[in-house]
Amino acid sequence: MLIDVRTRFAPTPSGYLHAGNLVNAQVTSWLARQHGGQLALRIDDDDRERHQPEYVEYIFSALDALQIDWQIGPPSLGEFLQCNVRFRHRYLHNQLSLLPEDLTYACECTRTLLVERPCPCRALHLPHTEGETVLRVFVPDDCVVDVNGQPVLVKLQLGDFVLWRRDGIPAFHWANVIDDRDLGTTHVVRGTDLQMATAAHIYLARLIGADRVANATYLHHALVRGADGRKLSKSRLATAAPPILDARMIQRIQSLARTVAEPLGIRPS
Ligand SMILES: [Zn+2]
Repeated sequence: MLIDVRTRFAPTPSGYLHAGNLVNAQVTSWLARQHGGQLALRIDDDDRERHQPEYVEYIFSALDALQIDWQIGPPSLGEFLQCNVRFRHRYLHNQLSLLPEDLTYACECTRTLLVERPCPCRALHLPHTEGETVLRVFVPDDCVVDVNGQPVLVKLQLGDFVLWRRDGIPAFHWANVIDDRDLGTTHVVRGTDLQMATAAHIYLARLIGADRVANATYLHHALVRGADGRKLSKSRLATAAPPILDARMIQRIQSLARTVAEPLGIRPS
């Protein structure tokens, strides 16, 4: 059966892309090409205050250096900057009404309080107020989601996770599910560190009837680690200079990408 493959590279510009992000971009683009599918570039810029324009600019130059083309999404930095983030947040907020009302609740607990005692907020029916509460989704204790054949007990792994942040910004899980639904994503390629995020996305997608997202193919690749063996992290590296995209670096990215793509059945092209 021929499937119409649609996948995406969805970087968050909270720092310069690191080698792990570049490997993810490369592997995702190979998957799209292998199936004659479409690749979308979706820059997750919801937290715009933390994002420097040079981080976004680097995304475009890195994709260019790796000769990755995308068919959906902003073709250039200039077009990307025209996107109205306020309008987008209003849209994402409106989409919250798709969730059954009794499954979401505002929570005013601080992180410190949550360490000391369970959150009592679901029973309190607090109003969801920007600056004062987050909005959480209730997860039943026995909710199990299958991620790559492994059952994940969502409550144990993620608790009643956040959909809307205290600072008025959509949380990653919510924005991701709505974006993937709107894009018609069929394949998601991400690192193994996001396996629990995948469980959250499948749970939310089922709640809002986004069947294509709930049933998408989720491919988790091995993580690229730094010389110290630690997972690469944009926030830790944010102040560091970006990887210089010379021929040697590109070769290194492609070689790492081949290593992580192979076990997933993705062919380099
Ligand atoms: Zn609470």
